[in-house]
Amino acid sequence: MAKEKINEAPRSVEERLKTLYQLQTILSEKDRICNVRGELPKEVQDLENTITGLHTRVQRYSTEIADLESKRTDESNKIENKKMLIERYTAQLDNVRNNHEFDNLNKEIEYERLQITLGEKTIGEIDRTIMARRNDIQATEQEIADQTHILDEKKADLDKIIGETRSQEEALIEKAKSLEPLVDERTLTAFKRIRHNARNGLGIVMVDRSACGGCFNRIPPQKQIDIRTHKKVIVCEYCGRLLIDPELAQEAIDELK
Ligand SMILES: [Zn+2]
Repeated sequence: MAKEKINEAPRSVEERLKTLYQLQTILSEKDRICNVRGELPKEVQDLENTITGLHTRVQRYSTEIADLESKRTDESNKIENKKMLIERYTAQLDNVRNNHEFDNLNKEIEYERLQITLGEKTIGEIDRTIMARRNDIQATEQEIADQTHILDEKKADLDKIIGETRSQEEALIEKAKSLEPLVDERTLTAFKRIRHNARNGLGIVMVDRSACGGCFNRIPPQKQIDIRTHKKVIVCEYCGRLLIDPELAQEAIDELK
C-alpha cells in the first residue's frame, strides 16, 4: 500500500471510509494480540503493588523495632542510675546519725528498688514486642519471597508473549499511525470515541443484510442507500458506529494487503 499523507486536499467520503475500515482492521488485529496477553499485564502489576506494600510493611516494623530499642536503652539507663543511687544510699547507711535518717534512706532504697522492678517489667514488655515484630518481619519476608517467585514466573510468561508479538504489534501501531492523518479529525475523533466505548472495539462496521454489523439493528432503507452511495458518513442510529457497505470494506481490505 503506497499512499502519501495528504492533508491539504479534502478526501472523499469514500476514501475516508475505506481508510477508517483499514484502520479498524489494523486496530482489531492489535486488540487480538493484546487479548492473547490477557490478564497477565494486570496480574504482574497487581503482584508488583502487593510486593511494594509488603516492603513498606517490613520498613514500618523495622522503624517500630528501632523505636522500641531506643526506649529499651532509656529504660536500662534509668535502671543503672537507680542501682547507683541504691549503692550510694546503702553506703550512707553506715554513717547515719539517727533513726530518722536511717528510715529515710531505707525508704529511698525501697522506692528505687520498686522503680527498678517496674523498669524491668517494661523492658520485658518491650522485648516481647520486639520479638513479635521480628517474627512479623520474618513472615513478611517469606511472603515477599513467595510473591516474588510468582511474579518472576508471570513476568517470564509475559515477556515471552510480548516478545513473540512485539514486532507484529509495533508494525500495526506504525501502520495505524500512518493512516490516521488520512481521515478528517472530526470523523477520526468520533471513530476513536465509539471504538473506545464499544466492548468489541469496533468503531466502524459493515452493513450485514440490511442491519448494523455492530448492534444488528435494522438500518432504514434511505440510510442503506446513503451508505451504498458513499456520499455521506452514516452512523448507526442505535449504537453510533460508522457504517460501511461490504463492497467498499472489501476494497479497503484488498488495498491493505
Ligand atoms: Zn449499530
